[in-house]
Amino acid sequence: MGEAGAGADAGACQVLLLSDARALERPLDYRVPAGLAVRRGSLVACPLGPRRLVGVVLGTEPATYEGRVVALAGVVDCPPVPAELVDLALWTARYYAAPVSACLRLVLPPGAEGALRRDRDGAWRLARPARGPAPRLVARSVPGAAAATGRRADVAAALTAAGGALAAAELVRRASTTMGTLRRMADAGHLTLGLEAPDGSPAPHALAGAHAPVEAPTLTADQAAAAHRIRAAIDGGDQALLLHGVTGSGKTEVYLDAIADARARGKGTIVLAPEISLTPQLLARLRARLGERVALWHSAMSPAERAESYARLRSGEADVVVGARSAVFAPVADVGLVIADEEHDGSYKQDSSPRYDARQVAYRRAQQAGALVVYGSATPRPETWRALPRVSLPARVDGSSPPRVRVVDMRTQPPGPVSRPLARALRDAMGRGEKAVLLLNRRGFSLSAVCRGCGWVAECPDCDVALVHHRDPPRLVCHHCGFEAGVPTVCPACGAAEILRAGVGTEGLDEAIARIVPDARRVRLDASSTASRGAVTALLEDFSRPGAAVLLGTQMVAKGHDLPDVTVAAIVDADAALARADFRAEERTFDLIVQTAGRAGRRGEPATVIVQALEPEARAVRLAADAAVAEFLDGELRRREEHRMPPFSHLVRLVVEGPDRTSTFDAAAGLAADLVALGAEGLDVLGPAPMHRLRGRWRRAVTLRAPRAATAVRPLGALLAARGKALADAGVRVGVDVDPQ
Ligand code: ADP
Ligand code: ZN
Ligand code: ZN
Repeated sequence: MGEAGAGADAGACQVLLLSDARALERPLDYRVPAGLAVRRGSLVACPLGPRRLVGVVLGTEPATYEGRVVALAGVVDCPPVPAELVDLALWTARYYAAPVSACLRLVLPPGAEGALRRDRDGAWRLARPARGPAPRLVARSVPGAAAATGRRADVAAALTAAGGALAAAELVRRASTTMGTLRRMADAGHLTLGLEAPDGSPAPHALAGAHAPVEAPTLTADQAAAAHRIRAAIDGGDQALLLHGVTGSGKTEVYLDAIADARARGKGTIVLAPEISLTPQLLARLRARLGERVALWHSAMSPAERAESYARLRSGEADVVVGARSAVFAPVADVGLVIADEEHDGSYKQDSSPRYDARQVAYRRAQQAGALVVYGSATPRPETWRALPRVSLPARVDGSSPPRVRVVDMRTQPPGPVSRPLARALRDAMGRGEKAVLLLNRRGFSLSAVCRGCGWVAECPDCDVALVHHRDPPRLVCHHCGFEAGVPTVCPACGAAEILRAGVGTEGLDEAIARIVPDARRVRLDASSTASRGAVTALLEDFSRPGAAVLLGTQMVAKGHDLPDVTVAAIVDADAALARADFRAEERTFDLIVQTAGRAGRRGEPATVIVQALEPEARAVRLAADAAVAEFLDGELRRREEHRMPPFSHLVRLVVEGPDRTSTFDAAAGLAADLVALGAEGLDVLGPAPMHRLRGRWRRAVTLRAPRAATAVRPLGALLAARGKALADAGVRVGVDVDPQ
């Protein structure tokens, strides 16, 4: 393939360049020289001045462009991005008003963002194809196997003609067959399929843990009914379903049944969990049942691990992926089922650009593929509760009843983070060698340093927030920007020597617990203790070792980890979240209480759940204590409808941010006024909100409300494009968050 090939052209294509420092967000047109096979999703080598950059082909056209359009230098020697994933990335960019390049990055093969090199053989290759050559699936003849018949005979012949071994993808092409046929032939013993490194040695993965699948338990009547309903939904062409089941009701078994069913129909499955730390447990469970054809996918994997998962999924060797939110973009072929476990969890929304919500993208991906999404939770979102057909698993599999929840009114308790009933429960449980899980939504030792004399509060110089007192080592820390300062002994405002600590954080609670049960092991799980990779898993393993132990931490402890011997679960400050000015505060509080309670007594052992609250009569606290999910959600939906909040509308949050107070203030006001002036039907402009400072920059938010996200996003795009230069000149940036959490 020559550079800028002479002769008749094959047409033209639109290419988005990936590694261009100027981050061109619009595709460029290139000519496709004759002899170059290019399609949507191909990676191509694109001349840009003297450089050759990797680009993704977004579209092709048969006609050659008129005038001077530069020709592609070549096609990169690596599998193209599947066209449906290009579609999904472009949809994500549109829906979330996010940069196209950032969304495409979610679907690229590993290494595609790096440089290109041209080899002696003339081929363009990725200069750094994610450390280590990717393994590939290889078909091999089986000597002495029974003769295949019909179309399988053609496949066997093609394999023999190739000398008895061939990359599976190549065999599919040569014999005009499908990967499914190869699988069935492998099952029937006509050939073998195995993952091999390019040098023919078995890939590391193929050697690891080749244990025999564990047999499935007989489903309970409720599980069988749910499984039946899921199959009916697939056959009936339903788009999505809510699987509502209390913790321990056997949802995972229902997922497993559905995945096996999808596999039997030749379809792949995506299984999503809200947290990376939840994926190892889920992966182990899936592999034990479904065998080794299950790949892992999350953002903390090494490039080599990612390359392996990519290759296994792309080749069809693995047909199930388990992962955190980015796995919704994994190259699973022929998706028939998407499962979003613990679907209520806000971590499904990415909190940096591109700010996509994996639950929403999952819905879109399933829609494209004609697949079904199963959203599973013990505390579903109002959104799913209202919109989706529902299947329920009302009881725990072992027949035990969930632990009773006791609400403690903290106004009647002595000062301190631990109430008398909680202290008693901890002593009892530790005395029996059992475990406890305590949730407190604040890390650090205490919330702030306050002067008793004048009320001065230590604040971050760059953010409008109080600094948090940490004990180990002693310092004041800003939880927004990381600013640190020493702990003052005298007040910098009035000179008084009485600096008090107000409120308690995880470190302070840790100290209080140490006084109550000094002999129990304590494991603290929060953003400070889990900053390093793999830390969560290590800490949870430590906690799970036999013997008395207390796990205390922020909301991380409420996530769906399956922890043994937990007989006490407590929420130390249950209504702290209610004080927040957020329409999801009630929902959050309710979920947190029910989910934390779900950590206790998972093996049917008697358990104590304690909810400490300053406002025990608050609706979310009261109903959560009774685990009254339907009543809570129905009321919550009525309230949301009254105020036209999601799911009865969509919100789009704009954060206007700049170095200077006045220009940021004015930019937000100007944007809000322009949006009002547009008079778009159904579009409400809420705000601008008050100014505040974060990491030394001024911020002011404007919230848009509309019946559909696109109603707000479309005019916004045009407006930001028109105002882009003026805003940039003032150093002002506008962040867009569609469906903010
Ligand atoms: P969930 O995902 O709803 O919390 P799981 O699927 O993890 O529930 O099931 C809870 C426990 O019950 C697990 O230990 C699981 O192995 C077991 N279990 C689930 N279904 C059955 C069944 N039909 N028969 C026996 N044990 C089951
Ligand atoms: Zn003072
Ligand atoms: Zn700060």
